[in-house]
Amino acid sequence: MKTLRECVKEAEDKGVAIGHFNISNLEALHAIYNAAKKLDVPVIIGVSEGEEKFVGREEAVALVKVIRERDNYPIYVNADHHYSFETVKATIDAGFDAVIIDGANLSFEENVKVTKECVNYARKVSSETSRDILVEAELGYIGSGSNIKDTIPEGAGIKTDPEEARKFVELTGIDMLAPSVGSIHGLIKSGKPHIDTELVKKIRQTAGVPLVLHGGSGLRDEDFTNGVKAGISIVHINTEIRVAYVEGLKKSLADKPEEVAPYKVTEPAEKAVEKIVENRLKLFNMMK
Ligand SMILES: [Zn+2]
Repeated sequence: MKTLRECVKEAEDKGVAIGHFNISNLEALHAIYNAAKKLDVPVIIGVSEGEEKFVGREEAVALVKVIRERDNYPIYVNADHHYSFETVKATIDAGFDAVIIDGANLSFEENVKVTKECVNYARKVSSETSRDILVEAELGYIGSGSNIKDTIPEGAGIKTDPEEARKFVELTGIDMLAPSVGSIHGLIKSGKPHIDTELVKKIRQTAGVPLVLHGGSGLRDEDFTNGVKAGISIVHINTEIRVAYVEGLKKSLADKPEEVAPYKVTEPAEKAVEKIVENRLKLFNMMK
C-alpha cells in the first residue's frame, strides 16, 4: 500500500490534486469512498475537532483503515484543523495518517512554536513505528467554519507572503502548507474571490513543500483547475457536502414521511453527497 506522502508526490507529478472531504457520519464516508472508487483515485477523509468528537477519534481511524486494508485502497484519514498540540498528539496516538495544526490565528512566532512541537512528535512516532505521519500547517487566515456566510469574514483573505512561507517551512519542517491564496472557509452568499494562481506558483517554489487548498466549497471550476495547475496538491471540500446531505435528507423526509428505517431515510442524502464528491474529484483529477 502506498503511503499518503507517496500519493501526494504522485499527484504533484501528474499535475492533479487529491480530494479531501470531511465526514460526520457513516453515510458520508460511504458516499466519498464510492465516488473515489468509481474514478479509481486516492482520497482523504477529514474530521475536524467537532466532527471527531461526534464520530469518535479511534472510530474514525478504524473506519478508514478497515476500508484501506480490506480493499487495498488508498484512502487516508486526516485530523483537519486541530488547534493545539494536545489535540494533535491525541490524533497521532489514535493512528491518523495526517494532521493539521492550525495556528493561523496565532502570531508568526507562536504558530512556528506549536507547529514545530507537532512536527517533532509526528517524527518521533513515525520513527518508532512503521507509520509516516504527515503534518500540515496554516499560514494566513482564511476564516473558519464549514457553513454558509453572507459575506467574507473580517480579517480573512489576507494572502500569504511567499518569503514568510519559506521561513515558516524552514523553521518548522512541515510536510505540507495551507496558504491563504484567495479562498475562504465555508460558502459565501455573495460569491468567492478567484484563486491567485501566480501566488500559488510563487509559494510552491519558495516554500518547497506541497500546498493544500482549503475553503474549496463554492469555488468556480476554473479556479480549481488553475489552482491545481499552479501547484495545489490537495483540495478540501466540506460545506458543499454538508449542504447536499442536509438538503437530501430534508427532501427524503418530506417525500416519504412514513419511512422509519434510518438507512432508507438517509439513502437520498448519501447519493447527493456521492454526486458532489464525484464531480469534484473529476475536476481535481482533470477528468472530463
Ligand atoms: Zn480548512
